[in-house]
Amino acid sequence: MEGKTKVNAKPQFRLCKEDGKTGARTGCITTSRGVTAETPFGLVMTRKGLPGYLTMDNLKQINGVKGLHVCASHFFDRSGLGLRDGRPLSEVMGQEEDSPVLVFCGLRDPVRFNLNLYPAVGSGNISVETEAGVTTACQDSYMRFVKEAQPDFCLSLSDDIMNCNGKKRRAKAVKRTSEWLGESLNEFGGSGEELKSVGLIASILATERAEDNLRQAQAAAAASSDPSVVGYAIMGLGLGESEESRRGALLSICGQLSKDKVRYTSGPSTPIDLLRTIECGIDVVDTGFVNELTACGMAMVFPTDREGVPDPEVEDGFNLNLWSDEFIHDQRPLKENCECYTCRNGFSRGYIHHLLECRELLAEVLLEFHNTHHMCSFMKTIRTTIEEGVFSEYTEEFQKSYTINTTS
Ligand SMILES: [Zn+2]
Repeated sequence: MEGKTKVNAKPQFRLCKEDGKTGARTGCITTSRGVTAETPFGLVMTRKGLPGYLTMDNLKQINGVKGLHVCASHFFDRSGLGLRDGRPLSEVMGQEEDSPVLVFCGLRDPVRFNLNLYPAVGSGNISVETEAGVTTACQDSYMRFVKEAQPDFCLSLSDDIMNCNGKKRRAKAVKRTSEWLGESLNEFGGSGEELKSVGLIASILATERAEDNLRQAQAAAAASSDPSVVGYAIMGLGLGESEESRRGALLSICGQLSKDKVRYTSGPSTPIDLLRTIECGIDVVDTGFVNELTACGMAMVFPTDREGVPDPEVEDGFNLNLWSDEFIHDQRPLKENCECYTCRNGFSRGYIHHLLECRELLAEVLLEFHNTHHMCSFMKTIRTTIEEGVFSEYTEEFQKSYTINTTS
């Protein structure tokens, strides 16, 4: 912007505290825009740079939102990938220069892209689902988008495959992901001013093959001596793998990475999954399951304070299904003592049930306010327990209380 001096420097991660019993850790990300975000935290998933049902102004009212995941594929239309009028993404998203929220940019939408329906990649190209149908993108078009958008973090491309794919396909996917990292390093190295404030996140494709994971993790760790690389992304998870293989891959990969770089992954589908992911040493994680719950008319109500116990009235201990007729006359807030916009302003379970029945979008707006706030409170508790050295006890208790709640 004219008249303002913009300091161009990449985001920095600082490790603060390591949990003695697990791989969990706290840290802090700072950027030259003056953003400071404590890790671990969850990324709010977006559609065309905006949250599912809220505006950016709404989002700013929620305490604890630290980062957004923006998918380049959402900006694809018939004339290709781009922001059209060349406006920086922060402007499209209604973020001021001093916005307190970090932007992570990837190509594909990890929540909506259906790997079952579309072949993952052609030669040199990668298929993406866009508003104009399924099409292909490549390293070049993605990099052009990143230069235009100027996110804080850019994930290098990865050839995410389904867990059931065969040996040959897996080897190819690993090779492509590594090649794309090499191409990204070249692009960042030779880009001059254009990518100066964008941090490159080196993608590693998690597979069921331990040797592949080890080799890639070592290669990514070596690549991170390049000043462009500010972190790692562990990709290909949340695609039907078992809990055990997911954990195995995360632990073995994280074990090889340098501790002073930020680590990202996608894929957890429940709060317990989220705890298990952070336990492996992940700092930034997608929380796409929150969007899915909102879209299904669900409200998260599990306790987010350390001593809380699950409400025995809640069937699975975690969520309320507001579509259910049992809420017609329920005048209580979604969760007692919740400080979110929805619960503070007297929108009751019965009212939200009614809005869903009438197909009023306000239902999803109110649920997204609550669910996003709830996720942020949960992440805050997780950070505190790591800081205080009681994370593994908290995780065990959390898991135990839900097992009891759902089996009794
Ligand atoms: Zn609430």
